Amino acid sequence: VFADIEGAPAIEVFKLIGDYNEDTFDKKVNLGVGAYRTDEGKPWVLPVVKTVEAMMAGDAGLNHEYLPISGLPDYRTACQKLLLGSESPAIQSSRVESFQACGGTGAIRLAADFLKRLMNFDCVYVSKPTWGNHKTIFKRSGFSDVREYRYWHPETKSLDFQGMLEDLNNAPEKSVVILHGVAHNPTGVDPTKDQWVEIIKTCQAKNIFILVDIAYQGFATGDLDADAHLPRYLDRNNIEFMAAQSFSKNFGLYNERTGNLVVVCANSELKAKIRSQMELIIRVTWSNPPNHGARIVTTVLNNPANCAEWKEHIKEMASRIKQMRQMLHAKLKALGTPGNWDHIIQQIGMFSFTGLSPKQVEVMINKYHIYLLKEGGRINMCALTTSNIDYVAKSIHSVVTE
Ligand code: PMP
Repeated sequence: VFADIEGAPAIEVFKLIGDYNEDTFDKKVNLGVGAYRTDEGKPWVLPVVKTVEAMMAGDAGLNHEYLPISGLPDYRTACQKLLLGSESPAIQSSRVESFQACGGTGAIRLAADFLKRLMNFDCVYVSKPTWGNHKTIFKRSGFSDVREYRYWHPETKSLDFQGMLEDLNNAPEKSVVILHGVAHNPTGVDPTKDQWVEIIKTCQAKNIFILVDIAYQGFATGDLDADAHLPRYLDRNNIEFMAAQSFSKNFGLYNERTGNLVVVCANSELKAKIRSQMELIIRVTWSNPPNHGARIVTTVLNNPANCAEWKEHIKEMASRIKQMRQMLHAKLKALGTPGNWDHIIQQIGMFSFTGLSPKQVEVMINKYHIYLLKEGGRINMCALTTSNIDYVAKSIHSVVTE
């Protein structure tokens, strides 16, 4: 019965990990992975997460009963506050609902299902380029019109602001746009505050519904409030929107699938209706969410001492990434590598679009055993360490000059 099944193409980032694992070269480097690494190149379980996990292990009151369909109530309200701030007009007027989801991915899928099934949206705009999952999630949710708005300008290696506005201005009625909340994946390029004003004005003029995808809060500036500029701006301007939060990166809870979908609506009466419909979607998707990650996040966000410690971890991760940007930039300059590499220090967040061509990326992988993504030569800045950065810089230099 399965004879006619054709194999699907490999998912690039996971194939890269497989190839890297099989590679026996001693100086091999994996710059493709989308997870934080220490300067020893190791995954980092945040110390505050360890503390809370130890507390949880000793808590006889915890069990493995199902959670409510929408998730842990305290988690949902803590996440809303983290996103919108305690002064949030929407929270104060009780216009925010949210749903614990299986990672940021689950939150996006939930949003897409809701927008399609209950609101009849059929057209979605994603940035060109964007995180590999966006288009497919919306297609699987039934969106038949998946479009791109210009974002990355390969010549200037920065935001194609005019192109972005032009494309959004041409959006048909009833379009959705995904805006990366902060630290754009994969380019590391974010609009300025003034540019956001223009972008949001355009969305408003064209009646475009905004879904903010915020998977890197804290990673751009090291400050959680500053990194929540976009959703807070929307809130202050009385705009209805959704936001998909992920705690995979900023809590290091990748495999615990800890996400949240926030819905900001026009009045508090809408909340119950939205909630009842969203719960129907959740019920047939994952039925009810996992507990462990959400319990950790809730405990940390609601305990001032834990939260202060977490904020220090965020600063440490953001500052290590910045340091790696500066070091790589300085090394390429010192080597006299042709081209302008200033974009490496101008970009923010976990990733950098190096601008290496797909051919150059191939050489990096095959000749130098340095693994990175083809599109734009995306690298994870924190996969660089003080031990491998010389080798990486020299390899980039060789590839560019060969
Ligand atoms: N959005 C973006 C832009 C991402 O980069 C990621 C993770 N790579 C996600 C959403 C989803 O995160 P999660 O692993 O929590 O599903």
